[in-house]
Amino acid sequence: MDPQLIAQAVALLRAGQLVAFPTETVYGLGANALDPAAVERIFTAKGRPPTSPLIVHVADVAMARSLALVWPPSAEKLAGRFWPGPLTLVVPKRPVICDRITAGLPTVGLRMPRHPVALALLREAGFPIAAPSANPFTRLSPTTAAHVCESLGSSVSLVLDGGPCEVGIESTVVSLSGPQPLLLRPGMVSREQIEDVIGPVLLAAEAPPGAPQESPGQHPRHYSPRTPLTLSNHDALPAQGRGVFLYWSNPAPACPSLPLPKNPSECAARLYGLLHELDQQGWDWIAVEPPPTTPEWHAIRDRLHRAAAPAPLP
Ligand code: AMP
Ligand code: MG
Repeated sequence: MDPQLIAQAVALLRAGQLVAFPTETVYGLGANALDPAAVERIFTAKGRPPTSPLIVHVADVAMARSLALVWPPSAEKLAGRFWPGPLTLVVPKRPVICDRITAGLPTVGLRMPRHPVALALLREAGFPIAAPSANPFTRLSPTTAAHVCESLGSSVSLVLDGGPCEVGIESTVVSLSGPQPLLLRPGMVSREQIEDVIGPVLLAAEAPPGAPQESPGQHPRHYSPRTPLTLSNHDALPAQGRGVFLYWSNPAPACPSLPLPKNPSECAARLYGLLHELDQQGWDWIAVEPPPTTPEWHAIRDRLHRAAAPAPLP
């Protein structure tokens, strides 16, 4: 990427503006994390409720330590193994991170992304960048610059185009702020890979009720295309309307059917782009075969179940 564009992006961030940028997971809507007014603009642009905390992106582990009140040995180990990469670590925050970013929580989610454009931006900026996915709240995350322009164009000062995202779904989020590590959001860094480094990690559902590390912002409906999406097998598709079926095992005889990649990484990289395309085509419904139940499909199962959750009543 042209260094002048990076310099322009940093100047805009310094001036309190929003800049969308590519990461290896999805495109982010970035603001200077040390500027509360700029952070506020993220919530307004996305229509994001104040109860949903933002992930803060850092240039390196030293920057992460400077924002964490406690940087436990487990964080050092996981950052050493998976950073830069698609893993967010939730640790106690220092006061320099405002309460708005963390939805009032005493903890902050930190991540060092590995996309070269994101890294160049963070290094040139020298300050941390708060960035949720660059899409309206509850909608599909963007995996190309065009997706960002379609949904948020007018509220963003600049969109850096770094091509399609390599991972394609949001980062794994693990909390290290309580008595036991807790997986708050599955992603392509798997629970098993994390456990190889730091030992047992609980799933959010396995945590004792009222655990201090509960995860706000994990709304049941999330990551949804505009077209209603259901999980169903080829022999139980919706009877009404014109729909399309996405499958791993068998196409549906009576309806347009598209195969999904059988490799979970390839499927993650393709999934949102495909749903964005289908959303443009005016189907009445999208049906997806229930994903495999093995661990390497955990993150894709999570996203598809949320995408299929019913919209809240108005
Ligand atoms: P997004 O930036 O849209 O990918 O969403 C970030 C998600 O990370 C939030 O919705 C939370 O589920 C999680 N998260 C971020 N910061 C924290 C935190 N301090 N504590 C718990 N979960 C967090
Ligand atoms: Mg998001």
